Amino acid sequence: MAKQDFYELLGVTKSADGDEIKRAYRKLAMKFHPDRNPGDKDAEQKFKDINEAYEILKDAEKRAAYDRFGHAAFEQGGGGPGGFGGGFGGFEGGFGGGFADIFEEMFGGGGFGGARGPRAEQSGRGSDMRFNMDITLEDAFNGKSTEIRVPGTATCAECHGSGAAKGSEPQTCPTCGGRGRVRAQQGFFTVERTCPTCHGQGKTIKDPCRACSGSGRVHKEKTLNVTIPAGVEDGTRIRLAGEGEAGVRGAPPGDLYIFLSIRPHRIFERDGANIHVRVPVPMTTAALGGAIEVPTVDGHRARINIPEGTQPGQQFRLRGKGMSVLRSKSRGDMFVELNVETPVKLTKKQKELLEEFRNSGGGDESHSPQSGGFFSKVRELWEDLKD
Ligand SMILES: [Zn+2]
Ligand SMILES: [Zn+2]
Repeated sequence: MAKQDFYELLGVTKSADGDEIKRAYRKLAMKFHPDRNPGDKDAEQKFKDINEAYEILKDAEKRAAYDRFGHAAFEQGGGGPGGFGGGFGGFEGGFGGGFADIFEEMFGGGGFGGARGPRAEQSGRGSDMRFNMDITLEDAFNGKSTEIRVPGTATCAECHGSGAAKGSEPQTCPTCGGRGRVRAQQGFFTVERTCPTCHGQGKTIKDPCRACSGSGRVHKEKTLNVTIPAGVEDGTRIRLAGEGEAGVRGAPPGDLYIFLSIRPHRIFERDGANIHVRVPVPMTTAALGGAIEVPTVDGHRARINIPEGTQPGQQFRLRGKGMSVLRSKSRGDMFVELNVETPVKLTKKQKELLEEFRNSGGGDESHSPQSGGFFSKVRELWEDLKD
């Protein structure tokens, strides 16, 4: 089921200001509150929905992301490709929500994308972000250079990322003495934890920078150039190092991962480096022979000579007419499977000609290469049944 528009859910217009949204939310929340509607499942769902909508719309940043990318902006990873309305897919993460954590799990082990820095919550390193991008099979074949706009964070220019207001400096954290970690007794054990005062920064700020509220980062949409190499596969991830969320107070930024998904093609089916295509061919061409032209993924055409007596399902291999191969100049092959078509809507004259063809013995087993073998097996079957 398609998710309802958040503005519609709250009954406000897209231009509604924060107060308007708040009022609309309160009214609906009162009306659908589970305490007022005991046992009413619909009301309960509605209450959940309006809360979800309000969570997003009350936050200027999330609202901006929603306006730009719709519900896709908040869908969590793992769903894989598909389902995008075309163009670029949703942007996920970077809002301080759960997504960064998912990334920690996915990439934190170092199994992907090379060595990783210390964990984000300890060092203040910016979160990794994900950007889903839909491309066509032709884009995957040719490669593509494109620009993407991602909502993100940048180091605050006012305080150069320190988070401290002009003329002041961050102070060494009194709780942890600048270590960023504190020790605590837990039963017999002494455990180390991230310092609750400075959140691992080792420094505290008395007079926070007004431009960034002391975080050292500001929200800023940025435009990035992305080069998609020829031959990419569905599910390929491109890592843009350092293009993720900015780090807290000068800590290193996260990375941006572009997840590519290749939209299904109208005609071609890709199988690694090879391309498969099924082409209809008139019965007469298959019987008498002839030539057909087929489109190729490079935007050109290829000619196939059909020998007389070609059967349905017969495959032709066009070497070097398949997909481009990543980091290689070679190409895969294209496989063309013929689908012989039986003519329909025959005129009286055409029917007479086919009748004449049949009467001349044209439909006999001797002219039907598969029939001979098949019917001899059928005769054997019937013989066996007699016993
Ligand atoms: Zn501290
Ligand atoms: Zn600042």
